[in-house]
Parts: sequence; structure tokens; C-alpha cells
Amino acid sequence: MTILDVNIVKLLSFVLAIFSRTVFAEDPCLTWFQSSGVKSDGKGCLISCDLIPKDMSSFDCSDRCDEFCKAKKCQPNPYWKNKLKNGAPKNWNLPTEQPANWTDLEMTQMMTILNQLPDQLESFPLDGIYRMKKSVDIINPGSTSDDGKEIAIYDRAFHSPFWSLSSVVTHELGHMVFQSMGAAEKQKYIDVLGWNKKGAIRPGEFVSSTAKDDVNEDFAENFSFFLLNRDILKSKVPKAYGWLVQKFTANFKLKDGCKNENN
Ligand SMILES: [Zn+2]
Repeated sequence: MTILDVNIVKLLSFVLAIFSRTVFAEDPCLTWFQSSGVKSDGKGCLISCDLIPKDMSSFDCSDRCDEFCKAKKCQPNPYWKNKLKNGAPKNWNLPTEQPANWTDLEMTQMMTILNQLPDQLESFPLDGIYRMKKSVDIINPGSTSDDGKEIAIYDRAFHSPFWSLSSVVTHELGHMVFQSMGAAEKQKYIDVLGWNKKGAIRPGEFVSSTAKDDVNEDFAENFSFFLLNRDILKSKVPKAYGWLVQKFTANFKLKDGCKNENN
């Protein structure tokens, strides 16, 4: 071979190496899913997949949970399906926040979570769960109105390395539950947890730093952990765990299957 030929061969093998690295590169989302230990044919696969921790390289991988889980999919529960609404909530007191429309993928992701909620949650007064663009509080993934009847899910709820959509939805439903309670019941929770010292954070451990903000956030986070990470709640905030068992019973859990399954 001439020097020119050698250079051409070198160049070709270099191009080939780059090409094969690009084409045959590992799928980072598949690796993310496979290394989590979540079983693709398990009944709770979709929600477990949504709860797999993410980082800056896997922040949008939960969009593909549907593809990784081979479990049968639930027919959408009509109660929750009807709660997913487009347009702005009627009594929203943050006029600068703009409504968005649910995409098909977002609807599917929301229904995965909502389908598995305990039936008891269907008896709370809720006008709707709305898709809003951005929160006035820029990093906020969700909000609930003061009366607990309107929930907004923002852009930030999706594709975040910091939280799962399941944790955002169950947190906001926690606000719905807390706001539906009468003054006496709220006071009982405040007393049991020790939030009654004005201007001070209650004593004891918290499930997250958000929970330290005030009694509302503490309740919402404890409620979310009661559904998604019960063991952590039990060990860190046993008083909240006991209070929630008393209100909802110990059987208040995510359903691992669904009434109507698509074949
Ligand atoms: Zn909150």
C-alpha cells in the first residue's frame, strides 16, 4: 500500500469507529431501567419505573416506562380520566399562570398513577387536575388551590431529575385531603405532630426538606410518602404514619393491578 492508501485506511477505520459508537451505543434509558431492578413483567412495573431515581442523563427516561414495562395496562378509571381537564381552573388566584393542554403521553403517564389510587380518594371534593405551563414559583412542579378543589400540574412536573411525576401528583392530592378537613381535624394533626409552636418548625424528623416549610407541606409530603414510600414515613415520622392509618386504615395503599385490563 502507498502512504496515501494507508492514510485512507486509517481515515476509514476512524470514521467506522465513530459510526459504530454512535449507532451501537448503549441506550442510556434502557440501562437506567435494567439496572434499577424493576421487573418489566411485574404488576406494579409502571409506577415503580416512574419512581426510579433520575439524574441529568436520565431525566426524561420515565417517558419510556410504557415501552419498558410489559405488564398489562389498565383501562383508564373514568373518575380520574374526567378530572384531567384542559384550560385554566375556574377559581385560580394566580392570574399570570397560563393553561396548557395535556399531551397524549402526559395523559397516559397521569392515568398510570391515578388508576392505582385507593378508591377512598374518589370521595374528596375535586373539580379537576389542570395542566398549566409555569408556576409563578419557577421550580414548582404543582399547586393546589386554597380550597383543595383545583390542582395544577406544571411543565416542571415532567422530565425532572429531582422528582417523579408520582411524587408530584400524590403530594398535591395530599393538599386536597388536608384542605378538605375541618378545623378540629386539622388541629388534631397539628397537635399530634407538634406544629403548634408559632413561627417554629415542629420537632422530629421530616421525610423531605419541603416538609419543613409549614404544616401544609408537611402533611402533603407525609401523605405522598404514605402511598409511595411507607417504610420511610414509618421510621422517620411515626406520628404522621399513625395519624394517617387512623384516618385511612392501613389498607390505604396503591393498587398493584386494575379492575379493567387491556389484553
Ligand atoms: Zn405543596
